[in-house]
Amino acid sequence: MKQSSQKIAIVTGANRGIGLETCRQLSQQGIRTILTSRDETKGQAAVGNLREEGGEVLYHQLDVTDLGGISRLRSFVDENFDQLDILVNNAGVFLDRGTSVFDLPLEILQETMEVNFIGALKMCQAFVPLMRKNRFGRIVNVSSGMGSITSMGGHSAAYKLSKATLNALTSIMADELKEDNILVNTMAPGWVRTDMGGPSAPRSLAQGADTIIWLATLPDDGPTGGFFEDRQMVPW
Ligand code: NAP
Repeated sequence: MKQSSQKIAIVTGANRGIGLETCRQLSQQGIRTILTSRDETKGQAAVGNLREEGGEVLYHQLDVTDLGGISRLRSFVDENFDQLDILVNNAGVFLDRGTSVFDLPLEILQETMEVNFIGALKMCQAFVPLMRKNRFGRIVNVSSGMGSITSMGGHSAAYKLSKATLNALTSIMADELKEDNILVNTMAPGWVRTDMGGPSAPRSLAQGADTIIWLATLPDDGPTGGFFEDRQMVPW
């Protein structure tokens, strides 16, 4: 119906930080980008700024823990585009920084998993059917080096487990989608100057978003089921 050769992207948790920078760069490449945020006022302000820079950015409210909200976003996409080419699961929380696993409140573990892992799963369950119908999709899960089991030390268990399971989910989904031209990858942005990363982080927003943009715009013969940092495969 309303399908177009112009690509459509959704980015979660995009009112600030790496998600906002991802929207900036995708929209500057001519991709029609739906910036989503759980707080509508903040999200609309972010969209206004990106439009002033010339990007084609739309807004939709979304808390990734809210199934009703995900379903409303799916209806919005169906009615306006009937296609979704790129999904960037970026929304994340880091609530147990430095906490010992033996002191970890289970509600913090649950909340972290709900946002960082189950939120991404729900988004994929909602949007992969549309990607499958159009036989095109690029899914980028924004993980962390702290999700790498190979180098996993102690503390911050909720955050680390949420990212390790997000990585595992990536592998499972990539395999199930390998005949559908839907490439699913996970990535670590490195330590980036955002509210989460803090002002001492060595990386800029542009450096943090670079691998996301690369994975979001892969050609059909690009990699799938990989864990990347700086466009290179890194150990699980
Ligand atoms: P940030 O500045 O703290 O931004 C996090 C974003 O996620 C915010 O927009 C926040 O919205 C949103 N969010 C949180 N819970 C949400 C929910 N339930 N539904 C929708 N959105 C939600 O962090 P960032 O550094 O840009 O992080 C982006 C991603 O990169 C995260 O997945 C993070 O784990 C990952 N990462 C970051 C670093 C780093 O050094 N910065 C390193 C490795 C991985 P509100 O404004 O409403 O809170």
